[in-house]
Amino acid sequence: MTIRWLSAVAPRLTQFPRTTLAARATLLPRTTQLPSRDRKGAVFSPSARLLTLLTFLLTAPLLPAEPVDWLLTAAHVVTVDAQHRIIANGAVAIKGERIVAVGPRADLEKRYTPNQRLDRPDAIIAPGLINTHTHAPMSLFRGIADDLRLQDWLEKFIFPAEAKNVSAEFCRAGARLAVLEMLLSGTTTYTDMYYFEEAIAEETKAAGMRAVLGQTVIGFPVADAKTPADALKRTEAFLRKFRGDALITPAVAPHALYTNSEETLKACRTLANRFHAPLIIHLSETRRENEETRAKRGKSPTQALEALGVFDGRTLAAHGVWLDDADLAILKRRNVGIAHCPSSNMKLSSGVAPVTKMLAMGINVGLGPDGPAGSNNDFNMFEEMDLAAKLAKVSTGDPQAVPARAALDMATVLGARALGLEHEIGSIEPGKRADLIYVRTNQPHAWPMYSAESHLVYALKASDVSDVFVNGRQLVRNRVVLTLQSEQVRAAADKYQRNILSTLPR
Ligand SMILES: [Zn+2]
Repeated sequence: MTIRWLSAVAPRLTQFPRTTLAARATLLPRTTQLPSRDRKGAVFSPSARLLTLLTFLLTAPLLPAEPVDWLLTAAHVVTVDAQHRIIANGAVAIKGERIVAVGPRADLEKRYTPNQRLDRPDAIIAPGLINTHTHAPMSLFRGIADDLRLQDWLEKFIFPAEAKNVSAEFCRAGARLAVLEMLLSGTTTYTDMYYFEEAIAEETKAAGMRAVLGQTVIGFPVADAKTPADALKRTEAFLRKFRGDALITPAVAPHALYTNSEETLKACRTLANRFHAPLIIHLSETRRENEETRAKRGKSPTQALEALGVFDGRTLAAHGVWLDDADLAILKRRNVGIAHCPSSNMKLSSGVAPVTKMLAMGINVGLGPDGPAGSNNDFNMFEEMDLAAKLAKVSTGDPQAVPARAALDMATVLGARALGLEHEIGSIEPGKRADLIYVRTNQPHAWPMYSAESHLVYALKASDVSDVFVNGRQLVRNRVVLTLQSEQVRAAADKYQRNILSTLPR
């Protein structure tokens, strides 16, 4: 390929006009400019000088194109870099696990010889979407009970159903289903909080997906731990097993302030810091949680966690609906990331998180679908972007609140920052992990397209995602997940549904 290109270009170079040759000669580095003597002191003849010049001119632009593993091209590359560059007729070059270049297709085709390529002239390439809060295995409870308040939903359905059904095998099957759905809807990294996270980690890794996985610590007996002390022990083994993994970031996940003792919360922070791991926690999701905490402690949940030292390290707090200005100041000072879950907050009638204020303060706000069981009921990050933008507008009366670009940032680069992974993921830039998605624009709901950013948030659907790359590896090709057997995943979901139905109170 390279040789053919060389032979095609070489004759054209010899036809450069004289002025171009002269101009180029002045650009030569000093050491290569027409040396008049070689090392032994012999004087070059004029014809030798000309030969040297011609050799340089012929070889300089013909340096062999660099081999890369992938060259991806599309109508637009939405980089979500610091300048929010959108490259028309763009391309991305991937070598191994990382992006080596992004730019106009014509440039990258000259500079790189790809081993494989994917050209979709009717698509957008965007960074893989980052889900900052979910409970993946709960996919097997999808739609088990809807239209209830959070406490009723948890206490009457979820906690009893979990007590009778959740096992390591259940979590494996649920994680496979979740990963299948997430990959097909353009998510490349997800953040989990559940039980048996080591099983979830193994399934996620086997499917090639990236995840930040929080092993739950909670103050009552659950499927994988009888006591918080057991849960902490299990969490430590999990952190030990997956630390340094290229795809899995293990995390400590005390469920919430109201479900754990002060001692357990402090122990969670200490454990997380020992392993330089993030801590994931639910925070101020409902008004009731805030009122009860104030009645009991005379403080807001944020103030209580701050006083306990829970924010003394990398922290991601989910929801943050009922936060006042004093809470926001603490979260900003502690660089706590927030997982905003608009679908869940709307469906459970939890309230509206002060996202506009958080963004204005520079708090890193990511997006999450939360639970697939009754608080959403899917993992669709395109919906979360759309709803984050619209919920902010309807709650502030300001159509400029959370514009499309901000919603896209939350699903990508801000989510990465909330997780502390911004140096690795969240945008399409050289040096970052090659986590990216193709979103097709070949359906009527995409016509015409004036702005790729606006379309990603307001017009395109999760089902428009055609191809997905994680860590430089193609995981979805033309809407087929290459690393999971969807029929087997479905059969397992059906089997668990029968089991779960038989255990529900009549
Ligand atoms: Zn949650």
